[in-house]
Amino acid sequence: LEFEDMFLRRELLMGIFEAGFEKPSPIQEEAIPIALAKRDVLARAKNGTGKTAAFVIPALQQIDVNKPKIQALLLVPTRELALQTSQVCKILGKHMGVQVMVTTGGTTLKDDILRLSESVHVLVGTPGRILDLAGKNVADLSECPVFVMDEADKLLSAEFAPVMEQLLSYLPSGRQVMLFSATFPLIVKDFKEKHMSSPYEINL
Ligand code: AMP
Repeated sequence: LEFEDMFLRRELLMGIFEAGFEKPSPIQEEAIPIALAKRDVLARAKNGTGKTAAFVIPALQQIDVNKPKIQALLLVPTRELALQTSQVCKILGKHMGVQVMVTTGGTTLKDDILRLSESVHVLVGTPGRILDLAGKNVADLSECPVFVMDEADKLLSAEFAPVMEQLLSYLPSGRQVMLFSATFPLIVKDFKEKHMSSPYEINL
């Protein structure tokens, strides 16, 4: 399967090719069509497999840039990964006019509030800060249809688990969940049972 065969919008396809991606990697080939069908996806994936674009491409495809609402929430465990992931969104979404915001602890809340008063389509960040913004009603996740967890084993570790649980209550019940993880400890299996609906499982 080629990127051209995935029924992606032209502006997104342009971003993909400009990024130098000629062919989908195996995880992209499997995950993108399933995710575009709005199914939940649970993928075992290591770094270097192209997993970031495997969730960024279907997330971007589903965004209506004329709607000034958060339409994809991408959660990651670290600031570094948040910056990298938002960069991938910006590169691939370059021709779409999509607004991407990244937020992590360690920046001022005031700047985030100001930024969120403008249009944001994709919100990328770490759990604590995102929960803070959702709890203060600054980030409206109530209509966010796409929820991604990258490095989910870390996102669901003891440190983050209670935050994750609260964060989910701000998302609509019909949202699509895409979960990527290198390992599948019990906590990830529990999350799957509790918060995902018959996910398509990818094990490459
Ligand atoms: P990731 O596993 O998401 O960290 O991606 C690893 C590297 O592969 C990154 O440098 C990406 O830019 C690159 N990459 C991802 N998908 C493709 C693709 N389809 N073709 C070429 N390079 C890719």
